[in-house]
Amino acid sequence: MLRPNMHYKELKDSYLFYNIAQKTKAYLEAHPGTHLYRMGIGDVSLPLCDAVIRALHEGVDDQAHQASFHGYMPECGAPFLREVIAAHYRKRGIMISEEEVFVSGGASDELGDILDLFDKESSALIMEPAYPAYVDANVIAGRKIIHLSAGEWNGFLPEPCQEAAEAGLIYICSPNNPTGASFSREQLAQWVSFANETGAVILFDAAYEAFIEDETIPHSIFEIKGAGTCAIEICSLSKTAGFTGTRLGYTVIPETLERNGMNFREMWVRNRTTKTNGISYILQKGGAAVFSEEGQRQIRENIRYYKENAAVLMKALDSLGIWYCGGKNAPYIWMKCPEGMGSWDFFDHLLNEIQVVGTPGEGFGSCGEGYFRFSTFGDREETKEAAKRLIGLFG
Ligand code: PLP
Repeated sequence: MLRPNMHYKELKDSYLFYNIAQKTKAYLEAHPGTHLYRMGIGDVSLPLCDAVIRALHEGVDDQAHQASFHGYMPECGAPFLREVIAAHYRKRGIMISEEEVFVSGGASDELGDILDLFDKESSALIMEPAYPAYVDANVIAGRKIIHLSAGEWNGFLPEPCQEAAEAGLIYICSPNNPTGASFSREQLAQWVSFANETGAVILFDAAYEAFIEDETIPHSIFEIKGAGTCAIEICSLSKTAGFTGTRLGYTVIPETLERNGMNFREMWVRNRTTKTNGISYILQKGGAAVFSEEGQRQIRENIRYYKENAAVLMKALDSLGIWYCGGKNAPYIWMKCPEGMGSWDFFDHLLNEIQVVGTPGEGFGSCGEGYFRFSTFGDREETKEAAKRLIGLFG
């Protein structure tokens, strides 16, 4: 007899963005014609850079001629893209081969799919506040979740602890969404030794590595000695290169990552060849252009624009004496709600008083209550106006 996956019943309603949309809709209905300053959305606002657009056009033209036409692409990624990604790592001193790089349709897809590699009995450690998909993907899989709370006391960067010792999977997102906090080399090294000791595997989400400014913060878990035997790195071109709507990412699984005589890289090859038929040739052409010299220069210009937005908001919060983290090495700023306000009260207050929309921290886990996330992916003039309005309200 068919039984549905009953774990879907255990999913909490994803009310966060729904609630935000409902509240802003109601406000606009009550105040027609009002402009809202949207500092909540984690989506980019700048278009793809020229180098990528040119490569995408070339990809389309290639598909128009029999001599350059591509049908199904290799399931683990086009060799031309796997090679430039591996070379990009090697330039940073991380010696990986193209066989250890897998091209994906984005980090979200991969964060869900990668769970196929692990037994359901292995529990997952999720440091909260967290990107909501980590929790939901594990609930759907029926896996036990260990929630590890972070807070101001540890700079939103938890250390290995007793609770973590029974975890099979350890999620680390650095720079973090939503807090923008980034693990130092020493802090990551602690997690790497811990995982090697306990036998856990770290799923390192590097979706925001390109936003790191501080040269001492690692961009990749593989900068840490010992990570080759305990980590998988999941990367995305979404925020790095504006691919949120174009969709492309990549994952690194070292050849040396094994448990119980099983090699995870080989398992992932088997998984991809079963479950995918590869990523579009055209998109992979566009993706390869990101790693060219010109592409790197152009994506950095876009990232600089978002970093300048962050500077505008950080300056406003500094002048108000409001506690926050993030912004410096991440496109998110995580602030403490002033005057002891709760996350949703603060959301309503900003919407009603200054027409600024952000994201209530409580939506990323209960320890996010009392905090608020600003995204810096918006338009410069809008960001400036939002900052001015914040100063006007709390100054
Ligand atoms: N990981 C984190 C931490 C994110 O914040 C996001 C998107 O916001 C993703 C992964 C998903 O990225 P992608 O667009 O590549 O699916």
